[in-house]
Amino acid sequence: KPRAERQRLPVVPQGIERDAFLQALAELKEELGAENLEINDKPLTDGWYMEHPNTHDMMTILHEEELVASAVVYPGSTEEVQQIVAWANKHKIPIFPISMGRNLGYGGAAPRVRGSVTIDLGKRMNKILDINPEDFTCLVEPGVSFYALYEAIQAKGYDHMWIDSPDLGGGSVIGNTVDRGVGYTPYGDHWACHAGLEVVLPTGEVIRTGMGALPGNNTWQTFPYGFGPYSDGIFSQSNFGIVTKMGMTLMPNPGGYESFMYTFPNEEDLAPLMEIIRPLRISNILENVAQLRHVSQSIAARGLPRTTFYTGAGPVPSSVLHAAASSSPVGDHTWAYYGMAYGPAHIRSHKLALVNSEFRKIPGARKIDPSTLPPDEYFWSRDRVAAGIPDIQELRWVNWTPNGAHVAFSPVSPIRGTDATALFKLGKARHEQYGIDFWPAFCVGLREMHLIVEIVFDRHDPERKEAALACLRDMVDDAARLGYGEYRTHLVLMDQIAGTYSWGDGAIMRFNERIKDALDPNGILAPGRCGIWPRRYRGRGWEM
Ligand code: ADP
Repeated sequence: KPRAERQRLPVVPQGIERDAFLQALAELKEELGAENLEINDKPLTDGWYMEHPNTHDMMTILHEEELVASAVVYPGSTEEVQQIVAWANKHKIPIFPISMGRNLGYGGAAPRVRGSVTIDLGKRMNKILDINPEDFTCLVEPGVSFYALYEAIQAKGYDHMWIDSPDLGGGSVIGNTVDRGVGYTPYGDHWACHAGLEVVLPTGEVIRTGMGALPGNNTWQTFPYGFGPYSDGIFSQSNFGIVTKMGMTLMPNPGGYESFMYTFPNEEDLAPLMEIIRPLRISNILENVAQLRHVSQSIAARGLPRTTFYTGAGPVPSSVLHAAASSSPVGDHTWAYYGMAYGPAHIRSHKLALVNSEFRKIPGARKIDPSTLPPDEYFWSRDRVAAGIPDIQELRWVNWTPNGAHVAFSPVSPIRGTDATALFKLGKARHEQYGIDFWPAFCVGLREMHLIVEIVFDRHDPERKEAALACLRDMVDDAARLGYGEYRTHLVLMDQIAGTYSWGDGAIMRFNERIKDALDPNGILAPGRCGIWPRRYRGRGWEM
C-alpha cells in the first residue's frame, strides 16, 4: 500500500489498558460525532509550516514516535471542551490542548506525554467574536491566526487599527499569547496586551477572568484586572486550564512608520552597543522590540542551503561567512540592527536623528539605505512584521540543512554589555564544541532582552539531533550557573529549565504543584507541561 494509507498501531497512554482506551475513544467519538475524532494510526507526515501535522512535532529533536498523540479531537464550542474534559476525568486519560499547533521550535503540536489525546481547538473554534473599532480591542477563539485577524481588520476597512504579529504570522493569537510569545510593534508583549480570558478548568468548570466575571459588563477587553486576585497569569505557560476565548488590545495606526537598519563591524561592538541601546529603548526612542542579529543568521535568512557556502564539517568559518555576506547589506560587518520608528515624518525624524547620533558612536557603524534593497531582501520582512503585517519569510533559514528543523535557546538578561558578552561567549563555546553554526539574535524588550539562539538541524540525522540537544542542555546549565534563565522553551527542555528556577529549594515548583493538584486532582491536563507534573505522575521518572 502507499505509505499514507498504511496503518500504525495507535499509541496508548502509559498506564491504561489498550482495549479500555479504545473503548473510551469510541465513547468520545459517539459524543462529538465521528468526524470530530481522529485516531493517530497513519504514518506520521511532517508537511510544512502552513500544512503542519497536529499529531506530533514536525521538527522533533527526539525520535519522531516519542512525543505523539494517540488521537486528536475537534471541539466546536466551550461546552464541547467541557465534555472532553469530563470524559478525560472519567477515564483518567491525559489530554493536551493546542490552539493551532504551529508552535514550531517549541514542540509544534506535540503533547508532552506520549499518547495524550490532543484537543485541537483551532479547527472548529476559529471565530473572531468581536472587533471593537472604538475601544481598539478584539475577542478571539483559539483558531484565529495573526493572518486571519489582520485580514478581518483590513476587510472591515478599519485602517486606524494595527495588530501585532510574531516573526511567523500563521500561528494562533491565543496559542502564542498563552505561551508568552512576542511580536515587533510597540504592542509586542502579547501577554501584557491581552485583556480577559475564558478558561475551561481541568475539572470542567468555566471561568471568565477580569471584568468577564461581572455579568452584563462592557469592560472585559478594556480593563484586564477586574476585582480580587489577578488570575490570568496562572493560565500562561502552565497546564492549569484550557483557554477558549481571549481579549486582545489593538494598537492605533501611528500615522506613519519607517524601518531602519544599521550594521556594526566587529563582534566586540556588542558590549558598547548594548550600553547605547539600553537608555534609548527604556525611554522609548527605540520604540519596538529591537533586534540585533549576527551576520551568520542574516546569511541563512536568504534561504540557501549551507552547502552553497561551505561543505566542511563544524561551524562555517567566519571568513566564509563574511565572504557570503559581501553581496548582502550586512557586507563585511558582524551585527545588523533592525528597528522601526513610528508616527508622522516630523515625529520620526526627531527620534531617528537621536538614534543615528548614538549608533554612530560605534566606529565604522553603517546606516543602510532601504531604497537600495531589493524587494525580497530580509529587511522588508522585518519591515512588515514591525508594522503588524503577518509574514513567514523568517522561516527561510530552515533551508540551511536538508530536512531543516529548529529549536531555540532563549535566556533573558538585562540590556547590558557585560550580560550580552557573557551569553554570547557561552553560546559560541558550546556551538564550537558540538560543531553547530551559531546564530545569536538579541531581542530587546524594554528593560530586558532575550538572546534567541536558533539551532537548525537535519531532523533525519540522529547524530546531529543528539548534538543539538546536548548543546542546548549544556547552554541551559551554563546560563543557570551565571544566573540566567530561559523565557520559554521546547517540550523536551521544560523539566530542565523548570529545575533551574530553584530558589528556596524549589519553592516556586512546590507552589505550582499545589495549584496543579487543587485544580486538576486527576492530573489529566497536559501533564508535565512547563515542568509541572500532577501528583499521579510525580516521582515516577517522567522528567527528561
Ligand atoms: P501556535 O499555533 O500559535 O503556534 P499552539 O497552538 O501551538 O500555538 O500553542 C502553543 C502551546 O500553548 C501549546 O502547545 C499548548 O501547550 C499551549 N496552548 C495553546 N493554546 C492553548 C489554549 N487555548 N489553552 C491552553 N493552552 C494552550
